Amino acid sequence: MSESTIFSKIINGEIPCEKLYEDEFCIAFNDISAQAPVHYLVIPKEPIISLLDISEKDKDLLGHLILVGKKIAIQKNLKNWRTVINTGEDSGQTVFHLHVHFLAGRQMNWPPG
Ligand code: 5GP
Repeated sequence: MSESTIFSKIINGEIPCEKLYEDEFCIAFNDISAQAPVHYLVIPKEPIISLLDISEKDKDLLGHLILVGKKIAIQKNLKNWRTVINTGEDSGQTVFHLHVHFLAGRQMNWPPG
């Protein structure tokens, strides 16, 4: 269940993080295992497991996550970045609490591995 993930513990303060932003809907923090010079995550406070679990009611929240990530990117003077949302084990999802990756600061490759 999403409630028991490491990200729920970050949201409730049980586990520390390098916090970049927080409001009533979401929190953004640096990834503990950065895959690029800049790598942060934006996650909803609501324990949604993945994009498989979203519906029409979540569209404002999803837009908010992207806009928060963009604002952080602008604060960091970024003009290039990659946004990733993994859905399911085969995609590479390891934490089953929805999160949006923002990666920047190096040349990205395509297709991703
Ligand atoms: P996923 O592979 O599920 O798309 O991404 C999960 C991300 O969460 C990974 O990039 C991983 O490094 C990050 N992560 C896992 N545990 C922690 C943690 O305790 N703190 C932080 N800041 N990031 C974490």
